[in-house]
Amino acid sequence: MKPAPFKYLRARTVDEVTEALSAASGEGKIIAGGQSLMPMINFRLVKPAVLIDINNVPGLASIGLEGDRLRLGATVRHRMTATDPLVRDRVPIVHEAMHHVAHLTVRNRGTFCGSVCHADPAAEMPLMTLLLDGKIEAASVRGSRTIAAADFFAGALVNTLEPDEFVTSILIDTLSPDTGWAFKEFAKRHGDFALACVATTLRLRDGVAADVRFGMMGVGETPLRLGGVEALVEGRQVSAELLDEVASLLADTLEPNTDLHASADYRRRLAGKLARRALSDAWRRASASGD
Ligand code: FAD
Repeated sequence: MKPAPFKYLRARTVDEVTEALSAASGEGKIIAGGQSLMPMINFRLVKPAVLIDINNVPGLASIGLEGDRLRLGATVRHRMTATDPLVRDRVPIVHEAMHHVAHLTVRNRGTFCGSVCHADPAAEMPLMTLLLDGKIEAASVRGSRTIAAADFFAGALVNTLEPDEFVTSILIDTLSPDTGWAFKEFAKRHGDFALACVATTLRLRDGVAADVRFGMMGVGETPLRLGGVEALVEGRQVSAELLDEVASLLADTLEPNTDLHASADYRRRLAGKLARRALSDAWRRASASGD
């Protein structure tokens, strides 16, 4: 397939980007890595009047620590995230998740923020952003605003940005050294999108789980934070009995889709298995950090 005709603008500043988006009156599209957008344009699933390239805007390609948060700029590629020492040391769960993202060629171009904006319900970085209480920084000619990750994902491939806004960076929480974490994904082949995935973090306080975060992807229209599971695990020891309770809660509450790749029932059972492994590993890591 060939794309429908479009204009192309290589922006040099954040202001140029926001002015171009505003002038395009909803017909403009940002291109970052192009790894998801170009196939959609080639299939004419999207037909932007103008493509606004942010790759030459200075200041958007860095990863930096701000207090207990990490800021990832809009043109930080997956490969940068995968190899950055700050990511590896301060958010090891993101470092681990990166091993599951696509293949080398895609990781060389695709961006963290582009993946979050694309909002694929089976993509790793949207789940990481939700799990780590991400803050999405958006700019437009009207100024800038911060959107909590919990308010960003509106459906499969749908986010809550206004048509004239673009994401300049995303902040995610770092993990304290005593945090236990686990990322468990199942895909048919390495680099494929997940059939289901669990990501969790927890700490030990007085011998029981505290500050529990539990997220999933591949089992809904968006990445999910499962407050019911978090409440169930909080204040308890991770035992065989608790894992049974979590698996049965997931079986009762998840409503995944059936598609070409797996049935809803298969995904529900997979979710329970992955949850057991993830919580056990996170508990073990948290326990080991106190040794
Ligand atoms: P683009 O393709 O440039 O843009 C995607 C969308 O986001 C567009 O609508 C664009 O307008 C918008 N956008 C981009 N940046 C911004 C911004 N700063 N502000 C506002 N809107 C913006 N991903 C996974 O997570 N896991 C996988 O296993 C995986 N496998 C893949 C396999 C293949 C073969 C391919 C081609 C892709 C795969 N991907 C996978 C997707 C890949 O991670 C993409 O890089 C990512 O989804 C989009 O990032 P991008 O920078 O390429 O965004």
